[in-house]
Amino acid sequence: MLTIYNTLTRTKQPFKPLHEGRVGMYVCGPTVYGDGHLGHARPAITFDILFRYLKHLGYKVRYVRNITDVGHLEHDADEGEDKIAKKARLEQLEPMEVVQHYLTRYHKAMEALGVLPPSIEPHASGHIIEQIEYIKKILDAGYAYVSEGSVYFDVPKFNAEHPYGKLSGRNVDELLSTTRALDGQSEKRNPADFALWKKAAPEHIMHWPSPWSEGFPGWHLECSTMSEKYLGETFDIHGGGMDLMFPHHECEIAQSVAHNGHDSVRYWMHNNMITINGKKMGKSLGNFITLDEFFNGTHPLLEQPYSPMTIRFFILQAHYRGTVDFSNEALQASEKALARMLEGYRRLRELKPSDKSTIDVAGIREKCYEAMDDDLNTPVLIAHLFDALRLVNSVKDGKATATQEDIDTLRDIFDTFLVDILGIRTEITDAADPEALAPFEGAVDLVLEMRSKAKADKDWATSDLIRDRLAALGFTIKDTKEGAEWSLAK
Ligand code: ZN
Repeated sequence: MLTIYNTLTRTKQPFKPLHEGRVGMYVCGPTVYGDGHLGHARPAITFDILFRYLKHLGYKVRYVRNITDVGHLEHDADEGEDKIAKKARLEQLEPMEVVQHYLTRYHKAMEALGVLPPSIEPHASGHIIEQIEYIKKILDAGYAYVSEGSVYFDVPKFNAEHPYGKLSGRNVDELLSTTRALDGQSEKRNPADFALWKKAAPEHIMHWPSPWSEGFPGWHLECSTMSEKYLGETFDIHGGGMDLMFPHHECEIAQSVAHNGHDSVRYWMHNNMITINGKKMGKSLGNFITLDEFFNGTHPLLEQPYSPMTIRFFILQAHYRGTVDFSNEALQASEKALARMLEGYRRLRELKPSDKSTIDVAGIREKCYEAMDDDLNTPVLIAHLFDALRLVNSVKDGKATATQEDIDTLRDIFDTFLVDILGIRTEITDAADPEALAPFEGAVDLVLEMRSKAKADKDWATSDLIRDRLAALGFTIKDTKEGAEWSLAK
């Protein structure tokens, strides 16, 4: 049975969905400005594994991952200049052009990393009406107040009745008293209060009408609103990076409780952070490496390019609740390990069965399930796959024998856990690297040229043989007046 670590209770709990056979999960998605970086890759991959595993277990999963595109700052919706608007102003673009540009790049990077698209990807900007209605209800419940055209959540009032800070374990009394001294804003009754609606400054491009002002919603609000819209007042899993626990998720809890009178989320899950050479990633530290830079090897800190699958495999070699430290050394070790795994996967297809078996494959599959059931323990799962790989290699090298049944079991283990659940693409060449593909494409063209020649020579047997063999490999061949065209089904 799947057990997952619930950040709220700080315990591992058996996972039981609210509705039998169905799971609702919500993960905080990207803020679409700036280039996709490793910080985006880790939550996407972590919750992709959960999504894949739940589906493998037979659940019907509705996975909602939002797009933050109403143009506020990454971690503080209340202050500073709107970055999407700033870029739009500087480059004379419509703000939605900026959003679309980054979103397209983000999707491309996610696809390269083998991250499945979520079931629903709602945009904050597409849910302004719902957010306004949500604020009205919090105001009616008495947990918010209007000030100078903005609406703020009343944290001290809420905290008097419900524990604010229970997810992150913050001491709220301390928070309420220490932040007071630092604050210079007069609009809020208490500095810990956060914006539900913010009146737009004149230079702010992205704004919408509301009963309180022409403005925009606070960042925390979109997740409470859109999770409820698509998953209901109570849903199973809410995920995100650890850095979102406070204030973002704490604010989401406060909003939902104020709005509905109860918590929305049954299991909170958080992935740990990524460091680079032992340091936190940051623009000022010069170690801010985008995903494209990893794939192309263009950042000065990188000794070589790293394929998206190497990055994925490397991230999965650590448990999602542990930190991951990126270094050239560690990535190169992962690249080698992945290559060995893929070579083993290929050799598995070539194993010849014997009447007698000298290997013991029994129990490997169960061990793999045990690892996944233990709070998605992917490093342990990968270790079991390497054990299985040693068996494959010993049979292939003639040091051991395996029956057809053993071989089928091994194939099933790799297809299930390596391909379906870990989401590792097993093509020998990486589809994300057109340069690596070029010689193979050239070879297919050459084979088709030889087929044309065979046809011209009326050598139908050869021509048909080539067509049939290519089709068996997954190629679709289309004869045209100019010759033959081919495509490869994914
Ligand atoms: Zn969120």
